[in-house]
Amino acid sequence: MTADEVARHATVGMVVVRDGAVTWLNDAARALVEAHGGRWTGPGSPLGPLAELRPGSRRVAVRWPSPTGGTRWWGVTSSRLPSDAHLIEITDDTDRYEADGRDTGPPTAQWRLARLEAVAGMGSWVWNTRDDSMEWSEALQVLIGVEPGIPLDLDLYLRLVHPDDVARLEATLAASLQTLETFSVSHRMLLGDRTTERVVECFGEVFADAAGVPSRVMCTVRDVTEQHKVLQELAFLAENDPLTGIANRRRISGMLVDCAYDPLGGALLLIDIDNFKDINDLRGHAVGDRVIRRVARTIVARVGPDALLGRLGGDEFALVVPRCGASEAVALAEQLCAVVAVAPMVAEAATLRVTISVGVATIPGGQDAETSLAQADLALYEAKDAGRNRARLYSPDHYHQAVRRVSLLHRVGAALDADTMQLVAQPIVCLGTGGTTRHEVLIRLADGLEPALGPADFLPEAERTDLVLRLDRWVLERAIRALAAPHARATDLRLEVNVSARSLEDVELGSWILQRLKDDEVDPGRLGLEITETAAIGSLDDAVGLATRLTRAGCGFALDDFGAGFGSFSYLKNLPFTAVKIAGEFVSQLDTDPVDAALVTAVVGVARQLGMRTVAEQVDRPVLVDLLRDLGVDDGQGYHLGRPRPLGELLVQR
Ligand code: GH3
Ligand code: MG
Repeated sequence: MTADEVARHATVGMVVVRDGAVTWLNDAARALVEAHGGRWTGPGSPLGPLAELRPGSRRVAVRWPSPTGGTRWWGVTSSRLPSDAHLIEITDDTDRYEADGRDTGPPTAQWRLARLEAVAGMGSWVWNTRDDSMEWSEALQVLIGVEPGIPLDLDLYLRLVHPDDVARLEATLAASLQTLETFSVSHRMLLGDRTTERVVECFGEVFADAAGVPSRVMCTVRDVTEQHKVLQELAFLAENDPLTGIANRRRISGMLVDCAYDPLGGALLLIDIDNFKDINDLRGHAVGDRVIRRVARTIVARVGPDALLGRLGGDEFALVVPRCGASEAVALAEQLCAVVAVAPMVAEAATLRVTISVGVATIPGGQDAETSLAQADLALYEAKDAGRNRARLYSPDHYHQAVRRVSLLHRVGAALDADTMQLVAQPIVCLGTGGTTRHEVLIRLADGLEPALGPADFLPEAERTDLVLRLDRWVLERAIRALAAPHARATDLRLEVNVSARSLEDVELGSWILQRLKDDEVDPGRLGLEITETAAIGSLDDAVGLATRLTRAGCGFALDDFGAGFGSFSYLKNLPFTAVKIAGEFVSQLDTDPVDAALVTAVVGVARQLGMRTVAEQVDRPVLVDLLRDLGVDDGQGYHLGRPRPLGELLVQR
């Protein structure tokens, strides 16, 4: 017999509902409606009086206004099916309701008990131990879904109890019969259909005769499925991450503590998805969520049953592997990077390539969880810094580097606050005339602390944080203010300011610069920006946008360090810049290296075609000046042409 045939013969009406509409119904459900003049046309029909029904709720009475007049009373239960569908089971209880309504005599105790039990969602049974007979209240029969007319005994009751819970219930009963004490036990029941599972709470009392021999047991049975579900969900949420279903931070911390107590220790892998913000930004948050789930699944499938994967938040996961040494942990981390990099991601973004970086720390016995997390975090930083899609094992060096990094950033932040950042200016000289065309503004940290820090020490670190945005604006503001100084106006001082890659993403920067120039009444032609080739290519659209905006207003825009990164002429062609600065490494050996000469010649040729000026960096010997001029380079900059000096000196008459 197929499931369809069973459904056709069932006397209970069955309706499958998805998204508020009927998708399937059996003959009994159709008959229920059609017998009273209604029509359920089949799949797609609206739910009518059942629309408000919440799935999982216990059996409820639903009034169904019959089109032929009068009200039908349905007893309805709704349970969840896989894939977001619900099964609604309906019995027609109208006759019982009508019988109740006709009974106008004084309410009997039995009637009152039946109503009380129905309202409270509970039932009761009495087991007469002497003859093994059993009485079930009507409400219990409804609760458990037993058809009227079936002989009710303890055997039947136990057959309806979930097989895994029978032994416990029997043991509880046996113990109470011995001690004559009350008992309380919760267990699962499989209802009459053998698939719907409910959780019930039983509270029982044993009655004995004068000799202390049990004569009967009375038990109330309360359906606590909903409360049980809520408690289970709460318990789940206390320990697990709702998005992925894997462990949460709290459970990971517990596992770290367990590992620390284990003499064999363990390993902690801190895993972070690379450039996840881009996935969110480009594909949307929903795809981002799916990627998080997919990465979790990919990792879980790769690790042993002893390991615990948890989500710490955002795109960051922690994997705790008990009794795992450093080299084994690094090998696992590398494997995880490799499998995630090739794992198919979500269908909506078939071409999406997702990679992870992993920081690995060992958990020696006795180490607190926070230390392990902090160490793995430092190792993760190193993995990201080394280019992402890789693993790094924590070493004490990472700690020292972090201390250095933090103290560096702290010093830069403090110098900005205290205005102890210093600006110097180095001349850019026209190789044809020897005259200074403009100055490049350079930053120095002059806080008097040891060790003294040059821009190469603190700028790369600042660029990893938002501090660089503040730094860039600070320099720009000072430069514009300097240009507004009377002596600077009188001498037509022109300045070029370096802007970091991060500032290219600052969408307000262009307007902010133009506004400041306007406020200080400075001709935009006197200000230039320099941006490295690597930064420009890394944020090509932003670079083109900012350069277009500023050059249209008259500002200069130079591509700095050309050749040190990509040296790509195709990029050069697409950037609306006014100048290109040739990286010092191709200039300083120009007199001895013919390849450098060829390269400089090529850059000059292309730049001329594009209408850009060329500037040679690191011109630190006289011989280079002539060579560069002969190759057609317009300007030069370097110790031989002029050392940096405090910007303030250019603003006063000397
Ligand atoms: P990096 O390679 O340096 O890790 O770069 P990243 O872009 O991945 O940067 P980071 O790890 O700091 O970014 C995590 C982002 O995750 C930030 C936040 O917008 C996003 N995020 C946090 N929680 C959720 C979430 O539950 N769902 C989704 N879709 N995104 C989240
Ligand atoms: Mg990330």
